Amino acid sequence: MKIIMLGAPGAGKGTQAKQIAAKYGIPHISTGDIFRANLKEGTPLGLKAKEYMDKGLLVPDELTLDLIMDRFASDDCKNGYVLDGFPRTIPQAEALTKALEKNNDSIDFAIDVDVPDENIVKRMSGRRACVSCGATYHVVFNPPKTEGKCDNCGAELIQRADDKPETVLNRLSVYHKQTQPLIDYYKGFGKLKTVDGTKEMEEVFREIVSILEK
Ligand code: ADP
Ligand code: ADP
Ligand code: ZN
Repeated sequence: MKIIMLGAPGAGKGTQAKQIAAKYGIPHISTGDIFRANLKEGTPLGLKAKEYMDKGLLVPDELTLDLIMDRFASDDCKNGYVLDGFPRTIPQAEALTKALEKNNDSIDFAIDVDVPDENIVKRMSGRRACVSCGATYHVVFNPPKTEGKCDNCGAELIQRADDKPETVLNRLSVYHKQTQPLIDYYKGFGKLKTVDGTKEMEEVFREIVSILEK
């Protein structure tokens, strides 16, 4: 099963993608996580990506495509994957379609997690991430058992630099300009499914499962 998660920054793509990956035994591939891991290790790719991420801009397509095509070549992608944060531009989507077509393959579902802009800033300002395992929390909607500590591994929880309100507004405008057109792109292929992302996490997940298992 090959699934794409679409939606604004903070819509809940990562939260849902992790659960889909666990339930169906497919890898969760987040380009944002891969960039952040590279940054943490100080690789040239990570340092280059940081210039864009800090400003709330997208990393150039070329760099992103190199990285993702490399990831698809891994063994664990044989039975599919859930993509979170990729594709984010029409050229990225076209490159993905082409790469799959080479193997007579295509995406099964593009799931748009729909959340209006008004809710996004609140979502992002409360988001906290584990420095060690990458688990995501929300100070109000999904708090950890002990404040500031990861439930999974006990490591410290931090706010991402790009989740500060100024950067969030930039990311939202980048989303509307560069990523939202993908909704029509996948609608054109008959692959688009929309879920109401303002519902509670468990409810959103139930809705997604019912789409995948229809
Ligand atoms: P969010 O989970 O809030 O949507 P991500 O973790 O997916 O954010 O992405 C963080 C940042 O990483 C983006 O703002 C962008 O700079 C960069 N990034 C992630 N995926 C891509 C992509 N497919 N193309 C270009 N830039 C990307
Ligand atoms: P994305 O990957 O789309 O950027 P995340 O999955 O990281 O979004 O979610 C953004 C923030 O909102 C996180 O703090 C997460 O815990 C919280 N969140 C996710 N889904 C919901 C939901 N349905 N209701 C309330 N908060 C949510
Ligand atoms: Zn952790």
